[in-house]
Amino acid sequence: MTAVDRNAACAVKWCDETGTHAVHRKYVASVPGGIRGGGLVGVNLAQRVQPRASVCVELTVTTPWSSTTGYLFAAGSVPDIAVALTEAAERATELDAVRHRNDDCHYS
Ligand SMILES: [Zn+2]
Repeated sequence: MTAVDRNAACAVKWCDETGTHAVHRKYVASVPGGIRGGGLVGVNLAQRVQPRASVCVELTVTTPWSSTTGYLFAAGSVPDIAVALTEAAERATELDAVRHRNDDCHYS
């Protein structure tokens, strides 16, 4: 494998990226999470291509109207985030049930 071998598989076994890349990445899940089906939330394993970089959990958001944004989370913080997300979703569902006339999650 050489530097010009752009389609070469990565030497890191779990990495899905090929060719030159700055972050090793494994695509774990892709969830249509946006309102009106307009967005896609990706969950990946990601590790910067640096010595002793830790493997992180990456969350990406892709919408038709903006470029993909991503954020790396330390693996240890993800369970807390997951709990908070679940709690927020439960409360949102409750609030929606009270509101009756929710047709979207727009900001008004
Ligand atoms: Zn890689």
